[in-house]
Amino acid sequence: MIQLNQFFEDDKKYIAGTYNRFPVQIVEGKGSICKDAQGKEYIDLGTGIAVNTFGFCDEEWVNAVTKQLCTFQHTSNLYYSSPCIELAKILCERTGCEKVFFSNSGAEANECAIKVARKYAADVKGIKEPVILTLVNSFHGRTVTTLAATGQDVFHKDFLPLTKGFEYTPANDIEALKENVKKYNPSAIMFETVQGEGGVIPLNKDFVDEMVRIASEKDILLIVDEVQTGNGRTGELYGYMNYGFTPDIVSTAKGLAGGLPIGATMLFGKVKDVLTPSSHGSTFGGNPVSCAGAVNILSRIDNSVLKGVKERNELIINALSGAKGIKSITGMGLMLGIETERPAGDIVKECLDRGVLVLTAKTKVRLLPALNIPVDTLIKALNVIKEVCVG
Ligand code: PLP
Repeated sequence: MIQLNQFFEDDKKYIAGTYNRFPVQIVEGKGSICKDAQGKEYIDLGTGIAVNTFGFCDEEWVNAVTKQLCTFQHTSNLYYSSPCIELAKILCERTGCEKVFFSNSGAEANECAIKVARKYAADVKGIKEPVILTLVNSFHGRTVTTLAATGQDVFHKDFLPLTKGFEYTPANDIEALKENVKKYNPSAIMFETVQGEGGVIPLNKDFVDEMVRIASEKDILLIVDEVQTGNGRTGELYGYMNYGFTPDIVSTAKGLAGGLPIGATMLFGKVKDVLTPSSHGSTFGGNPVSCAGAVNILSRIDNSVLKGVKERNELIINALSGAKGIKSITGMGLMLGIETERPAGDIVKECLDRGVLVLTAKTKVRLLPALNIPVDTLIKALNVIKEVCVG
């Protein structure tokens, strides 16, 4: 215990104070179960915020990553290397995009998406200072530009001035969308199909249809931020696939490499050749170890895994809807937000005490379990959540 307190104190002393950590030190994990320093076990319904796609230390993934690690760990982007080419090819074949730029995080994948949209506006339309319309309550990252894209003032304050060129329109409000498109004449509209950090709120189909209609009429690029919704999380490979349209740019990260840092920006038809030598780059982007992990993850997210995501979604909804203390459930697939009568923060703490890791999103309890979480493990965790929600 003395050792653990020292550990927490050292963390506080030496690590920048950006995180409110729970007093738990995770020391190992396998599948959907992890252990703390005292040997207490937890069922993980958070997956490191939608990162550990097939849970902790999935054997096939470990083998793929280790094999690459023992072959070569990195080379600069001045030379060819196979894992990133293999990964880009899979992404193109499975989405219809034509080129991919690799980076290291969601924010970086979005930065690239924004740069491509701006360069397309300059190259093709001669617009020097294009506007990108994003949605109120969105979240796109923490760099100064992706903060500007994020439609929530709470993230902006203290970091002004932000990058210019972003305007905001409320999600799921078609009239406001039409007005704002008229007012700002945007070159691109950027959105999440399910607003994750904003409280797990899916976009309505008619709102998305209208964005697609307006975008096609006015040659506005559609940028979909699939950092959280991507890679099987919603029950389709990418969240936009639930809505039946083809975007121009898709960014993804988090679960793509199953637990290693990666970002990918997928470029469809119109914008596929916007990036030219030296217009963008990244030292670690396309890192062979991360890409080997991603090739393994992506090639395993097949129809049977996606079906499993939908089945687990139904199981969760059936178990929790109407339960005492639970007001509503929003989201898609294995990206769910539970509105509870008791404060979400209290539920998260009590679940932790009882050996279940869950997250919050605004005022909701958020679940982002592994896509292959065993059903009996999931049921066990849901029983704990139900009991805790009653209070
Ligand atoms: N976009 C969305 C939709 C996200 O949910 C997040 C992170 O939560 C980001 C971007 C930023 O990703 P990262 O933390 O990898 O930079």
